Amino acid sequence: MASSNWGYDDKNGPEQWGKLYPIANGNKQSPIDIKTSETKHDTSLKPISISYDPATAKEIINVGHSFHVNYEDNDNRSVLRGGPLSETYRLCQFHFHWGSTNDYGSEHTVDGVKYSGEVDRANPRLQKVLDALNAVKTKNKRAPFTNFDPSTLLPSSLDYWTYSGSLTHPPLYESVTWIICKDSISISPEQLAQFRSLLSTVEGDKAVPIHHNNRPPQPLNSRVVRASF
Ligand SMILES: [Zn+2]
Repeated sequence: MASSNWGYDDKNGPEQWGKLYPIANGNKQSPIDIKTSETKHDTSLKPISISYDPATAKEIINVGHSFHVNYEDNDNRSVLRGGPLSETYRLCQFHFHWGSTNDYGSEHTVDGVKYSGEVDRANPRLQKVLDALNAVKTKNKRAPFTNFDPSTLLPSSLDYWTYSGSLTHPPLYESVTWIICKDSISISPEQLAQFRSLLSTVEGDKAVPIHHNNRPPQPLNSRVVRASF
């Protein structure tokens, strides 16, 4: 497995990542299962404050295991503050994870329940992103993507859980302050199918769709999950 070739198959998937990235077996890995009865309400946690300028949206890229929407982050036009954070964080990118069927796909789980979003009605705000996927069907394709504020995708309540964890795919750095909304957002089966229609292969090669791209929950170890609510 070359470092650029990690993925989500049996051969190169989460069970294999530790061979090239030993931190995969570290003590602060993500995602986790959030056991709500073991979370600690923390009255010192502040509300999350989000101020994103849709004009900082830049481009959408098929990276082979997912797609990324990238933002200009050379100034503080799009920032997140508050919550458990002591500093200002610039919006740099957002992306999604999904499963091969509608009954799983989230990386974090809550009391063992896997989500793919609330599979129900179509999410109108998500449709602009999904429509853009047609331009980046195959790996390494990129297209301009402008005028989009990803905070419009968030649930109406910003009650959250927070804990110290990691990136959920290589290089798996344990440098992430996770903030996970208590509420989920809606998505339709058709919209989930649009995620899965994206290809992990380059143009001209035999088409292989990105069926799923979620890492299973990792051990919590001595960490504590705090709740804002
Ligand atoms: Zn991710």
